[in-house]
Amino acid sequence: MPELPEVDAVVRRLREAASSSTIHSVTIERPGNIAPQNPSTFRALHGAKLLNVRRRAKYIFIEFSNQLHVQVHLRMTGNLYVLPDYRFRPHNTRIWFRLKDNRVLIYEDSRALGRMHLVTREDIAATEAALGPEPLDAAFTPALLQTILHSVKSPIKPVIMDQRRIAGIGNIYASEALWHSRIDPRLSARDIPKRKITALHTAIQKVLGNAVVSAYAEYAQPGTTPESESFGVAVYGRKDEPCLKCKKSILRIVQGGRSTFFCPNCQRP
Ligand SMILES: [Zn+2]
Repeated sequence: MPELPEVDAVVRRLREAASSSTIHSVTIERPGNIAPQNPSTFRALHGAKLLNVRRRAKYIFIEFSNQLHVQVHLRMTGNLYVLPDYRFRPHNTRIWFRLKDNRVLIYEDSRALGRMHLVTREDIAATEAALGPEPLDAAFTPALLQTILHSVKSPIKPVIMDQRRIAGIGNIYASEALWHSRIDPRLSARDIPKRKITALHTAIQKVLGNAVVSAYAEYAQPGTTPESESFGVAVYGRKDEPCLKCKKSILRIVQGGRSTFFCPNCQRP
């Protein structure tokens, strides 16, 4: 599932391949991906020029000429990339933008859970206003993380995954960052001591920073979203396997409907 690093890589690749391209036509193969909008809505993009692509949390915002904007959320299996000829599009293509030079901007999505909408600048501002700070920005300091955590009673793991509090940390990297900073994922966010918050801040930036580097390599070529990331995980998905620090078995629990992996020996209150 694309998290912040993977979405970032998709955005960078798209910006490099498609900036300044002009849209010839848009074809919606699966209207479910743009619901509740109508395929005819996307005709507004015919003849528009792609000006910029950027990421905020796990959203992708594509800015076109004529004050037009497209918002994309890849969800589980979405991917966006440019192919050299529109006739090469794969069978899981849900939406495709034929470019004036006959290349094609593909939205591929095997599980078809992702969403693409035509939005206004005001819609984007409203979406962004509801999101927490970006964990890789300079403004995201240990002091800010402490303020965020000490305002909530809930267990730490779902709190750092809550996009309204911190934007862009998903399930895999949340488990990883808590393991690196030796924090029990079940501990109430407001009970995390200050020294552990500093460690968590370092771990979040390190884990995401490393993942961005490996995602850029992984997504260098157009094509299907990789099923497994090349980024080496320390705890995620390693139930019953030995902890890399202490050799005790990794546990799996469920928090907020999502799997959490942790070492009960290393990660204590
Ligand atoms: Zn351990």
